[in-house]
Amino acid sequence: GRPRQREFDYFNLALQWPGTYCQRTRYCCPNNACCRGSNSPAVFTIHGLWPDYNDGSWPACCTKKSFDEKEISTLLDPLEKYWPSLSCGKPSSCHGGKGSFWGHEWEKHGTCSAPVTGDEYNYFLTTLNVYFKYNVTKVLNEAGYVPSNTEKYPLGGIVSAIQNAFHATPKLVCRNGAVEELHLCFYKDFKPRDCAGGSSSSSDMLFSGSSCPNYISLPAYAS
Ligand code: 5GP
Ligand code: 5GP
Ligand code: 5GP
Repeated sequence: GRPRQREFDYFNLALQWPGTYCQRTRYCCPNNACCRGSNSPAVFTIHGLWPDYNDGSWPACCTKKSFDEKEISTLLDPLEKYWPSLSCGKPSSCHGGKGSFWGHEWEKHGTCSAPVTGDEYNYFLTTLNVYFKYNVTKVLNEAGYVPSNTEKYPLGGIVSAIQNAFHATPKLVCRNGAVEELHLCFYKDFKPRDCAGGSSSSSDMLFSGSSCPNYISLPAYAS
C-alpha cells in the first residue's frame, strides 16, 4: 500500500482574491452570487488551510475520512461568507467522485493537518479563527491598498505592509498581473512565520519564483 505520509512542518493559510479569481468564472456561474458585482465582498476569502513541508512539498489525502457537511452545520454562516466557492465546477474528492470545495479542502488538506487541528469541525473552526485574527484585507486597506480597476501597487509595498503587521513574509500568487492568492504561514502553534522555505532570509527569495510582477493590481469587481 501507500506509505504513510510524515507529519507536516507548518501551516499555509491560502487566501483568494475574488476580484481576480472571478475574472475567469464570472461568465460560467451565473447562479454563483460570489462572482457577481454588488453581492461580492471586497475581501480576501479563504481557499484553505494547508499543511506544508519545509522543502516546498506537501502531504495530501492523509486519511480515509470523507467530508460530512453535517459536522460543520453550526459554521455554515461564516463559511458561506468567508469561505465561498467561487468556481462553477465540482472538485474531485480524495476517494473518487465529486464534492464541494469545503469537502475537497478537508479531505485533501484537513486530514493531513488533523494531528494539530483535530476533526473536521475543528479544522474549519480553527481556519476561521486564524483568518479572523490575521485580517489581511484590513491591513492592506489601512496601508492604502484598496481594490481598484485602475491602480497598480508595488509588490514590495504590499509585502511590507503584511510584514509590518504580522512580522512574517507572505507569498503572493498573481494571474495576469493581478493578485489571485495571498498565503500566510504559521508554525504549528499558529504563530506567524515566513512562507518561503529554506535557510536564506534574504528578501530576494520572495521575489524570485513569484508569479507577480513588481507592480500588481487588486481588481475591484466588474459590475
Ligand atoms: P496550483 O497548481 O493551482 O498552484 O495548485 C493546485 C493545488 O495544489 C492547490 O489547490 C492546492 O491544493 C495544492 N497546492 C498548491 N500549492 C500548494 C502549497 O504550497 N501547499 C500545499 N499544501 N498545497 C498546495
Ligand atoms: P507537478 O507535476 O506539477 O509537480 O504536480 C503534478 C500534480 O501533483 C499536481 O496536481 C500537483 O498539485 C501535485 N503535487 C505537486 N507537488 C506536490 C506535493 O509536494 N505533494 C502533493 N501531494 N502533490 C503535489
Ligand atoms: P486545490 O487547488 O485546493 O487542490 O483545488 C481546488 C479545487 O476546488 C479545484 O478543483 C477547483 O476547481 C475547486 N474550487 C471550487 N471552488 C473554488 C474556489 O473558490 N477557489 C479555488 N481555488 N478552487 C475552487
